[in-house]
Order: sequence, then C-alpha cells, then structure tokens
Amino acid sequence: MLWDCHIHMVLDGSDWKTALARHRERPDDRWIRRVLETYRSLGVTYLRDGGDRWGVGKRARALAADYGITYRTPLSPLCRAGHYGSFIGTSYGDMAEYAALAAAQRDSGADFIKIMISGLMDFHQYGVLTQESLPPEEIRELVAVAHGEGLSVMAHANGDAAVEAAARAGVDSVEHGAYLTSRALEAMGAAGTIWVPTLSTIGNLRGKGRFPEAAVARILDSALENVSAFAAMGGLLAPGSDAGAWGVPHGSQSEIPLLRQAIGSGWEAVLRRGADALQARF
Ligand SMILES: [Zn+2]
Repeated sequence: MLWDCHIHMVLDGSDWKTALARHRERPDDRWIRRVLETYRSLGVTYLRDGGDRWGVGKRARALAADYGITYRTPLSPLCRAGHYGSFIGTSYGDMAEYAALAAAQRDSGADFIKIMISGLMDFHQYGVLTQESLPPEEIRELVAVAHGEGLSVMAHANGDAAVEAAARAGVDSVEHGAYLTSRALEAMGAAGTIWVPTLSTIGNLRGKGRFPEAAVARILDSALENVSAFAAMGGLLAPGSDAGAWGVPHGSQSEIPLLRQAIGSGWEAVLRRGADALQARF
C-alpha cells in the first residue's frame, strides 16, 4: 500500500489505554520513529492520521519528512460531549464551542478537521451501533463551520442517517461507513464524497475469538457488498486501514486484499483514483 489514508499514530493495535499512557508526558519519539520506519520500509509515502489530543500526530508530521512520508493530521479530533470520541479527542458542548475549537485547530496548524458524528459498530451483533448519530442539521453545521475555516472535513460516521447527512453537507471523507443502504451510497456518489471503509477493523477480527465469528463474518460481508456497490457506481474509494485500532497493527497489510476482494477487476485504478482525490483535499 503506497498510502494509508486512515491511521492512529497514538494507538498500537492492542490496548488503547497502554498506548495512550506511552505519550502522556510528551509524544514518545522512539515510538513515532519506529512506526514511521515501519511505513517507510513498506513503501508508504502518504499517511493521514485520525488525530489525538496529546500532539502525537503533530509530532509525527514533523518527523515524517525524515522517512520520505507526507503526513496529514487534524491535531485533536472534535466530538460532542457525551458522544463517542472523548477518549482521544476534544469535546465541545455546543456549536459556539465547536466553532471556537475549529478556529483554534486551524490556528494551531491542523491540516483538516476531524469530526465524530456516530457511534461504533458493536461487533457482538450484526446491525447494531453503540449509540445514535448526531442529528442531520447538526452534522450540516459542523461541516459548514469547518469549511468556513478553509479546512476539509474527515468524518467518523456509521449508519445510513449519519453518512447520508454528511454527504449532503459536503463532507470531504467518510470513515468506516458501516451499515449503509443505497440511500447513503448514492448520496456519497452524487456529492463526490471519498469513502474510506477501513475494512481491516472488521476483517482482522476473524479468528481472534474476541467477538462471535458469525457476527464478524456477517458484518464483513455487508461491508464488502457495500464497497462493491459503491465501486460499481463509480464512487471514490480510498485505502485506509485504521491502523492502531484493535487488531490492526501499524503496517498491517490487510486493507488492500479486502478492498481488492470487494472491488474486483480494476481495483488498482479505483483505489488510485480515490487516493488521488483524497490527497488533493487532505
Ligand atoms: Zn480510526
């Protein structure tokens, strides 16, 4: 993989609490350099980080040139208080607070804004998300405010409602995108939204015994089907492993085979087009 469009430098693919503790005092340069060296050795030239509030992605961006890597970071991801994301991001209580944070991120050198607008997949059972997504009008405002700061927007989003609303709001990329129907897929296609389906977060759970295998298989099948349908409608798909998430170590080689399986013939051209589009915006 030449590019990984969704990684978490601050995380290590296993225990997130231990991973975050590593950087509590200051970003751990030894860790960051080891991870960057892993990517360099694999021929990776572009990394887009999902962000963290300890400055680990920011430090990685400063060191990445030593490894021939272009590195993009949103600095800290922004999440609504009480919703998913506070373990790694900065929380806002209302839209005024969000707008102030977005402006502060820009002033601090963020390459883009990362928002969290829905929960996670519950890998114990097919079709279940851990919490409700933000309402569509709120999603629209989050994207508009970030665009108003002159920054692109990466959205952590699962489920039809959140993804459709994000696409209609003009979000630049949708991350994960579990459980979509043709409504959301068509909305993304029409808007030119880049979808980074992070299939490794599901595929790498196979055979691990952490979640019921039947549920994991069904969730993966539905994701593969949606990626296949989106590719068939000419949608923009970019490769991002979500490295750092559980079961996805940095340098994991699972994303491309899964995307290839879903897209079928012409997969290389599809991914190159999506990655080009993503790098033009991020
Ligand atoms: Zn992620």
